[in-house]
Amino acid sequence: MTFESLGLHASVVKALTDAGYTKPTSVQEQAIPAALQGRDLMVSSQTGSGKTAAFMLPALHKFASAEQPADAAAGKTSNQERQAARARGDRPRFQPAQPKMLVLTPTRELALQVTTATEKYGSHMKRVKAVSILGGMPYPKQMQLLSKNPEILVATPGRLIDHMESGKIDFSQLQILVLDEADRMLDMGFIEDIEKIVDATPATRQTMLFSATLDGTVGRMAQQITNNPVVIKIAGSATKHENITQKVHFVDDLSHKNRLLDHLLRDVTMDQAVVFTATKRDADTIADRLNIAGFSAAALHGDMHQGARNRTLDSLRRGQVRVLVATDVAARGIDVPAITHVFNYDLPKFPEDYVHRIGRTGRAGRNGVAVSLVNHAEGMNVKRIERFTKQLIPVDVVEGFEPKKTASASRSPSKPGGWKPGDNRSGAKPGQRTFSNPNAAPRSANGGGYKGRNGDSGGARRSYGDR
Ligand code: AMP
Repeated sequence: MTFESLGLHASVVKALTDAGYTKPTSVQEQAIPAALQGRDLMVSSQTGSGKTAAFMLPALHKFASAEQPADAAAGKTSNQERQAARARGDRPRFQPAQPKMLVLTPTRELALQVTTATEKYGSHMKRVKAVSILGGMPYPKQMQLLSKNPEILVATPGRLIDHMESGKIDFSQLQILVLDEADRMLDMGFIEDIEKIVDATPATRQTMLFSATLDGTVGRMAQQITNNPVVIKIAGSATKHENITQKVHFVDDLSHKNRLLDHLLRDVTMDQAVVFTATKRDADTIADRLNIAGFSAAALHGDMHQGARNRTLDSLRRGQVRVLVATDVAARGIDVPAITHVFNYDLPKFPEDYVHRIGRTGRAGRNGVAVSLVNHAEGMNVKRIERFTKQLIPVDVVEGFEPKKTASASRSPSKPGGWKPGDNRSGAKPGQRTFSNPNAAPRSANGGGYKGRNGDSGGARRSYGDR
């Protein structure tokens, strides 16, 4: 299967060749033909599966096919009129932006990434402008972007509502609506904003919804806002990360955790890494500590100004930052192919976040390593993740960094719900010690005999309220 054989416009195919894409990913193979027919889509697909191109390529195809020299000229004329009026010093006549496509994303970083990808995929088109409308971006800058009347808006819901309500955006010409990571937008409390935005768009629009899961609320919302959709489920979508080697390391306390992290960050196979923390404050503290220890580290979290966040992400992309220390929301959607390792300094509160976190590595078909540093009292959280991903996570021990205690031997090695022993896709070998089967493999040198005690936190207890 090639991009040409999917029927995409030559200018789009050319951009994909430039980008080095040789063939469509499985979500692209399934979504693109249906989207090209104008069908609505409900897609569950994993992060890093190529979903951005799955919705953006058919949209760009549509715009490229409609792009007549006269249209391009018309776009130019209306923009020239706006510029001439400004040059004459006329008080600018109020002209709301009339986008043809809207992509809603849960976070600013994901929005910026979608915009960048759109520029890449549309690089051979005459006129297709994509802009991001985001919370945290200065208002005048956004007005300036909107005044160019871009065809494609990529936005987080909250800030978009502000512009809609003040009449800066008119959705009457909207042809395509995309909800990217819809489940996350609902988790983040955007449901009412989404309803308001959807209500402001024409019923004739094409709607494409992408989500890790199509169950529950998100599935119901998807049914409501789509019209006879094609449902695409990429097998085991939310959970399979077969190209990522997952491991759990047990630690006794914070000092053990820090020493082990420093050791693992010196792994020669590591190119770049993301270290996830539960709180913004920890992200700062750990980034500082790692810098002092000689790693080029930087923090990324929601308390930072957008400018600082963008600069950090640029430095990461350029390889100047090797270790990014981040919270869940800030690091969502980061797509840097050189990220070889993900470390969970703290486990995520929700198993879904684990899947999103480890998906920061192993991008575009590469291999990755995901290591969780877990204190003994957090065993149940590992089990919840294993149950969610239907994968066992092997426990690993580094010589010289053995925990004094082993995984709680007092917990029964119960099977995660719905998981079958043959189901293990995480690389755990039969008989290998995993959290759910802690007794199967040899214990670390000094680890025998520990009987887990309730409430023994190993010293690294922290709150998750500050995500
Ligand atoms: P996404 O799931 O959209 O975040 O994409 C994940 C990564 O895969 C991005 O780095 C894309 O540039 C890359 N990608 C998407 N589609 C393809 C493809 N067909 N071939 C190679 N890389 C791709």
